[in-house]
Amino acid sequence: MRRGTAETGDGEDGATSGTPPWSQERRRTWLAECGDVDVTGTAQHEAWQQKALPPVEQLRPDLWSIPVPMGGPLRYVSVYAFALDGGGLGLIDTGWESDEGWTALTDGLASIGGGVGDVRGVLVTHLHFDHLGLAERVRQASGAWIAMHPADAEVVGSMARREPAAFADAEVEFLIGLGASPDEARADVGPAENMTAFTRMAVPDRHLEHGDLADLPGWSLRAVHTPGHTPGHLCFSEERTGLFFAGDHVLPRISPNISSTHSGTPDPLGDYLDSLAAVRDLDPAEVLPAHEWRFRGLADRTDQLTAHHEHRLAELLDAVRNHPGSTPWQLAAHLTWSRPWDQYERRMRIFAVTETDAHVRLLAARGLVTSSGGAVPTWTLAVR
Ligand SMILES: [Zn+2]
Repeated sequence: MRRGTAETGDGEDGATSGTPPWSQERRRTWLAECGDVDVTGTAQHEAWQQKALPPVEQLRPDLWSIPVPMGGPLRYVSVYAFALDGGGLGLIDTGWESDEGWTALTDGLASIGGGVGDVRGVLVTHLHFDHLGLAERVRQASGAWIAMHPADAEVVGSMARREPAAFADAEVEFLIGLGASPDEARADVGPAENMTAFTRMAVPDRHLEHGDLADLPGWSLRAVHTPGHTPGHLCFSEERTGLFFAGDHVLPRISPNISSTHSGTPDPLGDYLDSLAAVRDLDPAEVLPAHEWRFRGLADRTDQLTAHHEHRLAELLDAVRNHPGSTPWQLAAHLTWSRPWDQYERRMRIFAVTETDAHVRLLAARGLVTSSGGAVPTWTLAVR
């Protein structure tokens, strides 16, 4: 089945002051061109059209997907549950931390004949709250181990060691460095209490590097390091079934948020485009993403996502040409967004500006723009 039309319009819901960081999917600021993928998760896709939560689905004799609801336009995370040789269950991702999410996860596990106490291990694709959020409750209830890539584990660990206020201050400083006024930065970041949940996320007890096999008996899940959306984002290639668990790296409809952060890598968009190229030709039997629906056609979808970012890079280069000496904060106002720029505020504006900054950094890495340097760098076309 071909589904060719992007759904726009639910790209951004109203900004709420209680929305924490690390939840970048909660508000899309910058939708990719429509996905034209071969939808295999037809029940998921139909539920989407009905604005309903999709069903728990059995995907293979020993593999299930369990939708765990979350606020915002993405609506749910698909948790994947694996029956293990020797008994017990393994999970990929856990869902957004909330009582509603916990109920959905535990009811979902019960509906497949298990329970949260059967979980032996949790693979977490990346540190964002909709993926790692419920991991601590799962660990408490089951004693399961939690595994992540060390680059994301490091970020989670550094958050866990920090007071929420220090965490908020670091983000304010980062935005000022991108050209925000102190008042704008403080208003957009919001009160430090918003950060509390993020300083309490589960610190993983196992690390998975690129190429490692996950310790889920009966399965051959190989970690594929795909930095970009986060520094330690992992996909998993299942070598027995040919399934590809994509996390947020490749989604069928929207492009994952690629932003600079105060704790991130210097060139996240460069990382992301490299990570797309690295998975493009894996030719999996099916792609199982963390949001939206399962699909086939990984190469085509990675090409679309790459083209989307190249288009934005070209638009940004024009903006730098027309407005030399601008900060990322100023440049963001000159780009095309899905609503008028002056309606952007708070978390939505942070995502937009840090996405713009990620694109500026890649233009700089390509030698197309140069920075003034200093505490608040401005950007100008490179003389070539
Ligand atoms: Zn996500």
